[in-house]
Amino acid sequence: MNLKKKPVFTQQTIQRMEDFSWFTHCQIFDDLLVVAQKETSCFVWQTAEGLVVIDGIWPSKAVYDAIISAIIDVGWNPEDIYKYVITHGHVDHTGCGKWLVDRHKAKTYLSKVDDQFWREHPTKPDRPETWKDFEIDCYIDEGETIDAGDKKIFVCGTPGHTPGCLSYLFPVMENGVQHMAALFGGATPPWNDQEGTKQYLDSIDHFIRTAKTMHVDVALSNHTIFDQGIDRINYSKNRCAYMPNIFVLGEDGFERFCEVYKALAVE
Ligand SMILES: [Zn+2]
Repeated sequence: MNLKKKPVFTQQTIQRMEDFSWFTHCQIFDDLLVVAQKETSCFVWQTAEGLVVIDGIWPSKAVYDAIISAIIDVGWNPEDIYKYVITHGHVDHTGCGKWLVDRHKAKTYLSKVDDQFWREHPTKPDRPETWKDFEIDCYIDEGETIDAGDKKIFVCGTPGHTPGCLSYLFPVMENGVQHMAALFGGATPPWNDQEGTKQYLDSIDHFIRTAKTMHVDVALSNHTIFDQGIDRINYSKNRCAYMPNIFVLGEDGFERFCEVYKALAVE
C-alpha cells in the first residue's frame, strides 16, 4: 500500500483558512471539545475552575460565535471561559482572542518571544484587521505549567515555525480513563530559512521526547490538513459506544503521527 508521507498544500489551503461560511465541532473527550472551520481548529478544555480555550482560529466575530455555539451545544457554559492559551503568534492561532478577552475577561497566555513577533511581524502585513489586537497577561516558556484548577497544561518549547512557538501537553478523560494529549504548536518549518528549519527539526525531536516521558497517546492538530481533522470530527460525531476513539493513537501511534512534521521539512 502506497501512502502519502505528507499532505499537499495549495494556494486554496491558505484561502480556505478565511472561509467562515461553515464550522463543525465535536466533544471528543469528556473534557475536550474541538471546533473547526475548513482548515484550522480550536480546542476547549473543561477544568474544575472553568473553560480553557486553546488557539482561536482567526480574528473574526463569526469564529467567536461558532466557538460559543459549540460550547453551548455540548452543554457547557460560555460564561465559564477563563483562560486563553495560544500556541504561536500567527493570525490563524491568535484568532478571536479579542472577543474572549473583551467579553469573558479570559487570561491570555503566549511566549514573550512570540508576543513580540506577533506585534512586529504580522502574518498579513498589508491587512491591519489581522494585526495584534489584544494583550498577553502571562508569558510562558519551555518546562513551565499552566495551572487550570484540578489539572495542568505542560508547556513544551518548540521554536522554528515561529521563534517562540509552543506546544502543549495535557490530560484528557474518557469515561473515567485518563489519556495524555499533545498539540504540536507550529506544524510547518519556516520555508526558505535554513537556520529556522534546523531549529524546527530539533523542536520535533524535543517534542517527541517530552511526549514519551509523559506517555502521550492522543495527537491533536490545530490544522485539519495534518490529521484529516474534519473526517476525524465527522467520525467522532457518529461514533457508537463499541467504536474506538479515533483521537487515541497509543504511544507508538503518537510517535508515528509526528513523522508528518519531519516530512514537511523535506522538499
Ligand atoms: Zn503558524
